[in-house]
Amino acid sequence: MNHTQFSVTQPTKLRHKKKSYYSRMKKIAHSKILDIINLTESTYIVRLEKNNFEFKAGQYLVLNIPGENMAREYSIYSKEDAPYIDLLIKEVTNGKLSKELKYIKIGTKVEISGPFGFFILRDRELNLANHFIFVATGTGISPFHSMVLSNPRLDFEVIHGIKYNAEAYDATDYPTDNYKACTSQERGVNFSGRVTNYLREKGVRKNSIYYICGNSGMVNEVSGYLELEGISPENIRTEVFF
Ligand SMILES: Cc1cc2nc3c(=O)[nH]c(=O)nc-3n(C[C@H](O)[C@H](O)[C@H](O)COP(=O)(O)OP(=O)(O)OC[C@H]3O[C@@H](n4cnc5c(N)ncnc54)[C@H](O)[C@@H]3O)c2cc1C
Repeated sequence: MNHTQFSVTQPTKLRHKKKSYYSRMKKIAHSKILDIINLTESTYIVRLEKNNFEFKAGQYLVLNIPGENMAREYSIYSKEDAPYIDLLIKEVTNGKLSKELKYIKIGTKVEISGPFGFFILRDRELNLANHFIFVATGTGISPFHSMVLSNPRLDFEVIHGIKYNAEAYDATDYPTDNYKACTSQERGVNFSGRVTNYLREKGVRKNSIYYICGNSGMVNEVSGYLELEGISPENIRTEVFF
C-alpha cells in the first residue's frame, strides 16, 4: 500500500501552464485499477484503489499511465468516504487517455496526484442550509454526484444536459424531484432541450447558489445568462472540462 501524503494545492485554469505546474508537484502516488464499469457505449467508471487519498467533493485528480506522458485531470465521482475512488469518464473520439483507460487491464497501477481545485461546497453555506443548483453537461455531473452523496442533507437541484436519455448516469442516486435531465437529441424523460432552454423556461432562483460544470460553451452561456438575470457573480461557480 502506498502511503504518500496528499495536500490541497493551488489549481490552474490555464492548460498551457500545465507542464510547469505539474512538474513542480511531487505528490504522485500509485493506485491500482480495481474495475472498469461501462455505463453506456462510450462512458465508463474507472474505480481506483483509494489508499490514503483524501479529497473534498468537487475536487479533481490528475491521472497518468506510468511511462506515458498523458496526465489528464478527472473530477472525483465517488463520495468522500467511499473505500475507493471512482472517476466518470467519456471516451473522446480521437482522444488518447480516455480511449486507453477504457480497455486498461484490471490491476494495472496508474499514477495519481492531487487533490486539486476549489470547486467545492463552502462550510458556511452548508451550515446555513443554502439551496444549490448544479448545472452540468455530460460527465460534468461528476463533481455534483460526489457532493450529493457526501452531503446527505444537501438542499439541491441537478440540471443535467445530455444528448440521449441513456446518459442520465446513475440518475437513481438522486431523489427523483431533485434531478432533471435535459435531453437534446431525443424526446427527454424530464425535459426535451438544452440546459439553457430549461433555465429560461423555468426561470432562475434568486437566492440559490449556482455551480456549473462541463464544456466551456455551456459554462459561459449559462453563467452569462444567470448574471443577466441578476444572480450575483459571487454565487456562480464554474469548472470547465474542455
Ligand atoms: C478540471 C478538469 C476535470 C475534468 N474531469 C473530467 C471528468 O470527470 N470526466 C471526463 O470524461 N473528462 C474530464 N476532464 C477532461 C479530461 O481531462 C480529458 O481532457 C479527457 O478525458 C480527454 O482526454 P484524452 O486524452 O482522451 O483526449 P485528448 O487527446 O487530450 O483530447 C482530445 C480532444 O477532446 C476534447 N475533449 C476533452 N474532453 C472532452 C469531452 N468530454 N467531450 C468531447 N471532447 C472532449 C479536448 O478538448 C481535445 O480537443 C476534465 C478536465 C478538467 C480540466
